[in-house]
Amino acid sequence: MRRRSFLKRLGLGSLALGGTLATVETAQAADQRFNWKLVTAWQPNFPVFMDGVNRFAQDVKRMSRGQLNILVFAGGELVPALQTFDAVSQGTVEMGHGAAYYWAGKEPAAQFFTAVPFGMNAQGMNAWLYAGDGLKLWREVYARHHLIPLPMGNTGVQMGGWFRKPIRSLADLKGVKMRIPGLGGKVIAKTGVNPVLLPGGEIYTALERGTIDAAEWVGPYHDLRLGLHRAAKYYYYPGWHEPGPALELIINDKAWKSLPVHLQAIVENAAAANNLWMLAEFEAKNVEALQTLQQEHKINLLEFPADVIETLRRLTKQTLDEEAAKDATFRKVYAAYQQFSTRDVAWHGVSESAYARIMK
Ligand code: CA
Repeated sequence: MRRRSFLKRLGLGSLALGGTLATVETAQAADQRFNWKLVTAWQPNFPVFMDGVNRFAQDVKRMSRGQLNILVFAGGELVPALQTFDAVSQGTVEMGHGAAYYWAGKEPAAQFFTAVPFGMNAQGMNAWLYAGDGLKLWREVYARHHLIPLPMGNTGVQMGGWFRKPIRSLADLKGVKMRIPGLGGKVIAKTGVNPVLLPGGEIYTALERGTIDAAEWVGPYHDLRLGLHRAAKYYYYPGWHEPGPALELIINDKAWKSLPVHLQAIVENAAAANNLWMLAEFEAKNVEALQTLQQEHKINLLEFPADVIETLRRLTKQTLDEEAAKDATFRKVYAAYQQFSTRDVAWHGVSESAYARIMK
């Protein structure tokens, strides 16, 4: 009885000891300080985009009481802007910020996690990512690249772009040389537009000199800062090609696993907070800039003609089907995206869109 009691005590003692050791180890990991690097696909001082990333790093530092310190680098400061994905994937740095559709060449399905033409707006994207199966799929797709993605930022619906000549019908698009990247470029090429890829810093000069005839960039705020209204007179809406581009925070999976759970929670919540902040900032800044463009610069603000929009819509479906035929992952994400967005459109028709029509 005594012996059994002793063994029992010993057993419990061992368990307790094991438990204590485990607790000590966890406590050490829990106290460990982390100094991480975050690289971005954005130029230094790129408003809203870089502001949001800097806010995120500050939020994490404050919430973790300095336990997770994130040093932010603009594109080109540590690695070239468009090597953000590779640098984080390979673990050269722990974190990155960019837009998933930049990596379409490596992962075609990534485009759905930013924006596709005639796809979901910011509200739809957030619903799909957070409350639907979007983020789960995104994690699945990025797992093979050793990345954990989190939504962080959204520009809201962009503008259709600046044109040097008015577009009165589909025929006016023929031969137009336009700066428009990604799937939007592939779609509009089918109408006879010659899509050109140009970084932000080169758009104004190209448009002003007539090297290109049209250019899309972001929205009123960023376009005004580039001075595009001085290079082309006709400003078209809506941004059919980028209806609500989501931006991404990417984290190397090994680095992520090394974080104690409370720091993971801080990163997730700081990313979500700045996802909201960036969308709000874009909206507020665009409201102001559109007013300046109209009142001070007297731009011609025009809606794309109906035949242009209808044709682009048809060509988008054709382009997405062509891409789907080439890549199984693209097919899978496309199907999930469509399933969500079809119902989202139906709901929007009687909620946001219906309300927008009567909003004054
Ligand atoms: Ca754009």
